[in-house]
Amino acid sequence: MRVHVISDIEGVAGIVRRGQVGGELPLFQEGRRLYTEEINAAVRGAKKAGATEIVVMDCHGAGGEYDFNSLIAEDLDPDCEFVVQNAWTEYTAFLEEGCDAALFIGMHAMAGTPDGVLSHTVSGQAWQSLRFNGTLVGETGINAALCGRWDCPVALVSGDRAVCREATALLGDGLTTVEVKEGIGRFSARSKTPRRARALIEEGATRALKDLTAVRPYDPGRPCEIEVTFTTPDRLEEYRNRRTVEVSGPATIVSRGDDWWQAWAGFFF
Ligand SMILES: [Zn+2]
Repeated sequence: MRVHVISDIEGVAGIVRRGQVGGELPLFQEGRRLYTEEINAAVRGAKKAGATEIVVMDCHGAGGEYDFNSLIAEDLDPDCEFVVQNAWTEYTAFLEEGCDAALFIGMHAMAGTPDGVLSHTVSGQAWQSLRFNGTLVGETGINAALCGRWDCPVALVSGDRAVCREATALLGDGLTTVEVKEGIGRFSARSKTPRRARALIEEGATRALKDLTAVRPYDPGRPCEIEVTFTTPDRLEEYRNRRTVEVSGPATIVSRGDDWWQAWAGFFF
């Protein structure tokens, strides 16, 4: 069994503040330790379920040299391999080769979620909302659509209560979720301890991988229209001339394609 662990840092237990997730910020070294250990818990759980090849892909843009490179390599479980990519959604080779399931670890809720700890969609400063064929989605939706493009189902999502709710609404009741904290506000939470969270993630990963048919691979639909509304009109300038983009409002673009990947790759890179 081949398992892709796809991860972000904001949904990790004990991570609540911006200073823990930005590469230049004072609490980041603590943040990456907590992050790396939740990844290890997922890897252990996958091994117990029979995974023979596990590839971890960090999707957190921490800034600078830490972009998609927040995991502490030295501390990672030797039974996984890990990808450091240049741009988010750039690395697809493991999915293309054929992947049995994905585990999403440390996820956060979409922009505008009141109880979503460190909630945002792609860029907290620039992106206000994202829709796939009319459905409001966050980063769980993006990563799920990426996996779905190569027929890989998402078996597990871990993070705060808000992202677990968001992921179940999008991917269905067959999804296993592991809630490691409950948001009080965007920068406040009641959290499980890191050690408790890791035990729950390990157990959840093993359980989720027992039934690979519980969740269907996610496809937002064909053809596909992706709509992004930015926080201010100047933020769309960067995307205006990309090949699949049409400006549809003062701060809104749409990107269209025969399928999700065509619409996404046409504007995101
Ligand atoms: Zn992130």
